Amino acid sequence: MLNTQPTLNPVDLNEPRAGVYIDGQWQTGSERLTLINPATEEPLASVGAGDADTVDQAVRAASAAFPAWARSSGAARAACLRKIASGVSERRERLIQLQSSNNGKPLSEAAIDVDDVIATFEYYAGLAEALDAQQDGPVALPSEDFAARLRREPCGVVGLIVPWNFPMVTTAWKLAPALAAGCSVVLKPSEVTPLPELELAEIIAQSGLPAGVFNLVCGTGLAVGAPLAAHPRVAKLSFTGSNAVGVQVMQRAAETVKGVSLELGGKSSLLVLADADLELAVELACGGGFFNAGQMCSATSRVLVADELAEAFLARLKARAEAIRVGDPFEPGVEMGTLVNQAQYQRVRGHIERGLHAGARLVCGGERPAELPRGYFLRPTVFTDVPADSALWREEIFGPVLCVRSFASEAEAIELANDSEFGLVASVVSRDPAAAERVANALQAGLVWINAPQVIFPQAAWGGYKQSSIGRELGPWGLSAFQEIKHVIRAL
Ligand code: NAD
Repeated sequence: MLNTQPTLNPVDLNEPRAGVYIDGQWQTGSERLTLINPATEEPLASVGAGDADTVDQAVRAASAAFPAWARSSGAARAACLRKIASGVSERRERLIQLQSSNNGKPLSEAAIDVDDVIATFEYYAGLAEALDAQQDGPVALPSEDFAARLRREPCGVVGLIVPWNFPMVTTAWKLAPALAAGCSVVLKPSEVTPLPELELAEIIAQSGLPAGVFNLVCGTGLAVGAPLAAHPRVAKLSFTGSNAVGVQVMQRAAETVKGVSLELGGKSSLLVLADADLELAVELACGGGFFNAGQMCSATSRVLVADELAEAFLARLKARAEAIRVGDPFEPGVEMGTLVNQAQYQRVRGHIERGLHAGARLVCGGERPAELPRGYFLRPTVFTDVPADSALWREEIFGPVLCVRSFASEAEAIELANDSEFGLVASVVSRDPAAAERVANALQAGLVWINAPQVIFPQAAWGGYKQSSIGRELGPWGLSAFQEIKHVIRAL
């Protein structure tokens, strides 16, 4: 079944694809990454990668390009962003295939990612254009002797470090606002999934962006990410990834007092209130738990169900989860692909094992599908009776694993949901709009969906409470993350 996969432009494994783009030029780099196809466990591509010297070269190129780009008009920046959006549209099919082969997600999910990238570049093109009229604004002062204006300026060279779960999307959410603000950029894609970003870099190379404004260095976290986080000429770091690495990035950034934006992990809840539509609740639970094989910072991996619905809900959830078609990401109709690599596969299976030892009851899944002996495939997994102090309930699993608990009252549901060190998102299912809004207000989460799937709009903020985030992406907040504020006060 898996050999029906369409072949992308074959990448010669002995001749690595250039993985470093600095000052408008491609370089092979001093290191090499071998990428594995997660559906076949076979080598997929070989990509050149950089080291600390490469990072230094990239930051210097970005520094040299910064002053002219910072002075350019918002309209000029918008034109480049629109060119990038249309370049992504033109290569949409190839980008979808690259994401599926590198990450293991079904083509249908990869298509959503690519469309999100297009929408994000278009949205920030609009904000860049608006900057020409809005860059300076008056500030009211309680004095007739002085006049003040507030000016927003790009903050400088920025380092963008992204993970593998939504490679192009996490990149676009940083890159589009950074370029719109007038920053120059050094991007470090995940060493696991750099292929979509390499294609994006080719598109950017043809967008009219001046050389040096956008630079990309593939490589590992230690070889490339760490020196980028520590580089004294980087003014700001925008990082999406795990909490463990986010802490390290913040520590490194502290040495030169850089600004940081962090988008980290989650352990989010879906709350099914007593009056919920059961069918809808089950669909939303599956979407929140199994989309991208559960490898989502926003996975609603805790499902809280009102006591009176719990039995019926669990029975329907089990039936739906068992019916989910797991398989080759390139096969039409497949609903769930693979986990991204062996390390992630073993990590998630380890969580399942420990959950069983902790006394949680496995409702379904927990195993590789028998018909898929190779590839990092796992069945959608549901647990119940999960102890509230177990790792399964408290830690981010980052795989297709849902934990279901019931609650007796709205207050208990809110308390259970908020009892986490994370606070990224939440979902509420209820037929009563007032109750749903009341619960949404009480949840410690940066984004709450009511009776809705995890829809994301570039206009709405992304980010969370507590240890999930520092700052917000998307919307005007995503742009201001890359701006400095300057006040000019003049005596009259
Ligand atoms: P990760 O932290 O292992 O890696 C993220 C990036 O950091 C990669 O590019 C990696 O090479 C780099 N890196 C690793 N060590 C580094 C170091 N010492 N210094 C600098 N950079 C370093 O995360 P991952 O496994 O790629 O992604 C999964 C994690 O990302 C999950 O925890 C998930 O919750 C989180 N995530 C969060 C969001 C969000 O918006 N909050 C979105 C997507 C993913």
